[in-house]
Amino acid sequence: MHMDFNSGYTMTIDGKACGTQGGLDVVNPATGDVFASAPAATAADLDEAVAAAHAALPAWKALPITARRELLIAAANAIKANADDLAHLFVREQGRPFEAARQEILFGSIWLKSVARQELPVEVVEDTPARRVEVHHEPLGVVCAIVPWNFPFLLAIWKIAPALLTGNTMVLKPSPFTPLCALKLGELWRDILPPGVFNVLCGGDELGPLMTAHAGFAKISFTGSTATGKRVMESAAKDLKRVTLELGGNDVAIVMPDVDVDQVAAEIFHGAFYNSAQVCVATKRLYIHDDIYDALRDRLHALALDATVGDGAEAGSQFGPVQNAPLHRRLLALIAEARAEGLTLLTGKAVPEGGGYFVPLTLVDNPPETARVVAEEAFGPVLPLLRFSDLDDVIRRANDSDYGLAGAVWSKDIEQAVSIAKRLDTGNVWINQNLQNTPAIPFAGRKQSGLGVENGVEGLKSFTQMKSIFIPKVQEEAA
Ligand code: NAD
Repeated sequence: MHMDFNSGYTMTIDGKACGTQGGLDVVNPATGDVFASAPAATAADLDEAVAAAHAALPAWKALPITARRELLIAAANAIKANADDLAHLFVREQGRPFEAARQEILFGSIWLKSVARQELPVEVVEDTPARRVEVHHEPLGVVCAIVPWNFPFLLAIWKIAPALLTGNTMVLKPSPFTPLCALKLGELWRDILPPGVFNVLCGGDELGPLMTAHAGFAKISFTGSTATGKRVMESAAKDLKRVTLELGGNDVAIVMPDVDVDQVAAEIFHGAFYNSAQVCVATKRLYIHDDIYDALRDRLHALALDATVGDGAEAGSQFGPVQNAPLHRRLLALIAEARAEGLTLLTGKAVPEGGGYFVPLTLVDNPPETARVVAEEAFGPVLPLLRFSDLDDVIRRANDSDYGLAGAVWSKDIEQAVSIAKRLDTGNVWINQNLQNTPAIPFAGRKQSGLGVENGVEGLKSFTQMKSIFIPKVQEEAA
């Protein structure tokens, strides 16, 4: 069967199409024009999706893990087989250039397959002549997964894969800005997964709070901003739903004086501007040692002047627009404010004019720490470069943030880099690399960057309830 990816966007409830189009306009960020319309779920749709997930739960969790694994591998293969169509749709709703969009789709398929092969065996924590104590990991129930628009596909997979493998059923809610690939994923899997196991709803701003308040969910797995994460946790507290929160960051990279500037500049640039800097773990404050500050600044500026920002659907675009109008307005205001404050801005190549949400790649030359462009998560291509000369001082400045998501250290001296990494109050630190993640590596934000863990065995466990079973051996001995 060949699916139509250019129209017919429906939600998936109980393995069936649901919702008429017309509730939610979807805008192409490269033009600012509405190009598709998606349904907006009602409270009744939500009740129906949760009921379907509950109805599917007993049979799904009773399956041996090997059977769930096979179904998830089939689901991953379906993504791969439709990667080009999904990637074209991704470009239109998210804005990213095609090849990078395709990478996210394919990576999603690989990620799903890889998680599907993970194991969560029963652990034996005591084994004495008197008894054996086993820890079992049981599914929590029906999971609510809420994702943002910056990596709308992969971040959904980060939740779907562990939730379903461990025997939960679920309802996924994509961002209202990027609902289409998630809706098509639901459609793609209608004939692969049993009805009710994977439901997809979309809607406007009211849908998220309705979901987090719904008594039918056992867990909320949320990725988005810190402000929304706090609301999610508050709502979940009413019936003590389990929560995992992956939130914002204002990540630092610290560049030591021994680096080869020409060698590291392109990678540092990539770590700051990939996906037009709309990455939770992008470098958002770049601390450069005084000895190499001017050289690296000039090199980064040259890269910005070289980079083409344009419609992701056009060949040659290396960076797309930012994803939505509110973010676009906020970034332009941030740049205007920096200019008004007399800060020095080093701007990249001119961006297309018209209704698209384009922002020129922008470096801010050594602003004060108190400038908004340093203190806040820009979540767009505006990068402050900050001079330092003293290591203790730069570590203090790096840690002086409510966030603690990730960070990077660039140095030839790996031993010193590791010692710096240990002093950063973040959940991840990369040394001489950037933006790396695999399904086996736990990802956990510190401070107001998150709560709980995604990925790795810990991530898998976060979709389960531990149960310790005490088994006496007395009868065995008597026999
Ligand atoms: P957002 O918080 O505005 O929205 C995220 C999701 O939450 C969307 O689906 C939205 O519809 C939904 N939502 C909004 N209000 C809600 C409510 N009251 N209750 C429940 N759900 C609600 O975030 P965004 O602008 O879509 O994403 C950008 C933010 O996400 C950035 O701060 C970025 O750093 C963060 N992020 C974090 C990670 C991570 O893994 N830590 C990954 C990607 C993005």
